[in-house]
Parts: sequence; structure tokens; C-alpha cells
Amino acid sequence: MSSKVLENFLKEHLEDLKGKGLYNVIDPLESANGPMIKIAGKELINLSSNNYLGLATDQRLIDAAIEATKKYGAGSGAVRTINGTLDIHVKLEEKLAEFKHTEAAIVYQSGFNCNMGAISAVMDKDDAILSDELNHASIIDGCRLSKAKIIRYKHSDMEDLRNKAKEAKESGLYKKIMVITDGVFSMDGDIAKLPEIVEIAEEFDLITYVDDAHGSGVLGNGAGTVKHFGLSDKIDFQIGTLSKAIGVVGGYVAGKKDLIDWLKVRSRPFLFSTSLPPAAVAACIEAIDILLNSTELQDRLWDNGNYLKRGLKALGFDIGESQTPITPCIIGDEIKTQEFSKRLYEEGVYAKAIVFPTVPRGTGRVRNMPTAAHTKEMLDRALSIYEKVGKELGVI
Ligand code: PMP
Repeated sequence: MSSKVLENFLKEHLEDLKGKGLYNVIDPLESANGPMIKIAGKELINLSSNNYLGLATDQRLIDAAIEATKKYGAGSGAVRTINGTLDIHVKLEEKLAEFKHTEAAIVYQSGFNCNMGAISAVMDKDDAILSDELNHASIIDGCRLSKAKIIRYKHSDMEDLRNKAKEAKESGLYKKIMVITDGVFSMDGDIAKLPEIVEIAEEFDLITYVDDAHGSGVLGNGAGTVKHFGLSDKIDFQIGTLSKAIGVVGGYVAGKKDLIDWLKVRSRPFLFSTSLPPAAVAACIEAIDILLNSTELQDRLWDNGNYLKRGLKALGFDIGESQTPITPCIIGDEIKTQEFSKRLYEEGVYAKAIVFPTVPRGTGRVRNMPTAAHTKEMLDRALSIYEKVGKELGVI
């Protein structure tokens, strides 16, 4: 017999979420997550994936994955520190260090568990972490896990960060203080003010931690936000994911050799969770080789992003202040945002509604993620559907 307490809890809370338009429905894809997708037999223009460069469906990555599976099998068989480290795991880490212009790198099974493992390996209850209020959920959870004092600063507000850093330092309460930020904020597409953050970090002796999940492959000729600002030797932790621009799955930290050596002996997901499967590792190596050799895909991504932004703006949509190809269309009210996304879907565009708690209440948006793989025809079709639905719902 199942627990009545649990049953009542779930019923009450699920109904509450559904009533407020905050319940996310999951639509399984019947196709690859490319520029066009198929859901329930319907072909849609896909503006919701993080497959920024189209590499998830690139034949070179697929071939590399198949070859690695034939050689090493479907799974890696153990955690990294027992005997789940294949030679290709080591090769991937070397490639990542080259890609990020650092001494070394460590690979995790996802960006999420990278943040869970990396922060808590270095910070503890005697420390403090200054964290941007809009940082990703995995950073928030990683900070909590560390038991350090979490001090949130206003989003990209450098005066607030400086004041809080000064106060924390002068209190004498903390052994170590870290400042932690997303490189690119995925809900608005804005870029962290890294030069100012580094200046503040130098003044107050802060450890610097940048999660560049959305900047890698996109900014800095592909190398990311830190490289974009020329700060590769000034950031202690460069975090990335292998699931977005790289097109596969996994996460990593790039940094000084000593830091990476420490993470390899103290980071719990590295020590206690089975390593990435061979297919994923080989495909990631292929993707990074592609990025190291050409900026063609980034150029196409930016071209498409700018094209979509110009089009939506010309139609009268509020596209916020994005500095990257991420293009939010801010609707505001949660129910209306869900309705907008639903109507886009019916007309042939898949652009997911993002509402509270992922973004603050009242700032619901349909978020568009153009990729290098979209054609101008797809984007034109998406824009004409946006125009139709925008007029119908009184958004423009
Ligand atoms: N950090 C940030 C900033 C992210 O946006 C995401 C993905 N949503 C992650 C970490 C987690 O990455 P992954 O999907 O590889 O677990």
C-alpha cells in the first residue's frame, strides 16, 4: 500500500502547479534533436535545443561514436578511479585543456554533476561563496552541497558584488571566498562582466569560478566567454558542458594542473559514478577537433541568431537584452506564455515556454535557440508563424 501522506502531497502540489500554468509537459521527440524535429508525427521547426552548432547530428561525430563503440563497447564498466578510465577519457581531457587554454582538465558525466562535484571538493563550511542571483540550478545546488556560506549578489551588479566581497573579506569569518557566475546567462542570453569580476577577485583574493555552459563553442572563437575577454590565465575554474555546443553529453573543469589533480581525488561524481561511455567520449573529441580547426559553425550560429533577432524585433516583440544568439521573447504572464508556446506548436514551431521557477514570476518567455544548422527558410517560416500568433494573442 502506498503512503497516504505522499499521495495527498503529490495530488495537492501537482494540481496547484497545473492551475498556475507552471507544470511543464514533456513531449518526446521521434527524431534527432536537429533544426527540424518530429513530435507525435508532426514536423516542427526546432527553436528549443542547446545543440548550438548542430554537432549532435554531425556525421563525423556519429562515425566516431560508432567506431569507439565497436572498439570499447557500449559502457565504460567502472568509475574513473577503479578502471573506468579509458585512454580516450585521457585524450578528451587533454583536448579540453587545449581548447580552454589551460594546463589540464577533468571530465564528468554531466555539467550538472560537475558543478555538484567541483564546488564541494574545494569549498566547505569555513568558506563563503559569492553567487550571482541568476546562476544555474546546478551551481546553486553545488554551493549548497559544499556547506559554505552562500552570499547572493544582484544579477551582474558589480557594485553589489564588490560591497559583499569587501564585507566578507573584512569580516575575517571565512578561510576561502569564491565568486561564481555563469559565463552566459541562458534565460536572457547576457554575458557575465568577467573583466570587472576578475578585478574584484584580485582586490579581495577571491577564487574565480565561471560556468560557461552556454558560452563555450559560441564566444571567443569557440573557446568561450573567458577567452572572449582574454582572461584564460585569470579564472581558476572554467566549467563547461559537453551537451550543448559540443553536441554530446558530459561536463568538465579546465584549470591549473594542481586544481585538476585535487578534483581527481576529492570530487565525488568522479570517484563514485561510472565514467562517460566510449561513444560519447569519442564524439566529444571529434567535436573539439572541429572547433579547434575552424570557426565556420560559430559564424553560422551568430549569423542565424542575428537574423532571427532582427526579424522578431522588427515584428515588435520584446527580445530583452541578449548579447548572444539566445533570443528570448518575453511575454510576462505565465498562462499567456504557455498559450503562446502552444499556439506556436500548433502552427509548426517548437519554442518552449520558460516560466517560474526557472525565471522570476511575471517574466515568462518563449526562448528561441537558433543554431548553426537552421536554414534561412526555416527561420523565415518561424518568423511568419511568430507574426501570426503574436497578433492573434495581442502580444504585438
Ligand atoms: N550549467 C549551466 C549554466 C547550464 O545551463 C546547464 C544546462 N542546463 C548545466 C550547467 C548542466 O549541464 P548538463 O546538461 O551537461 O548537465
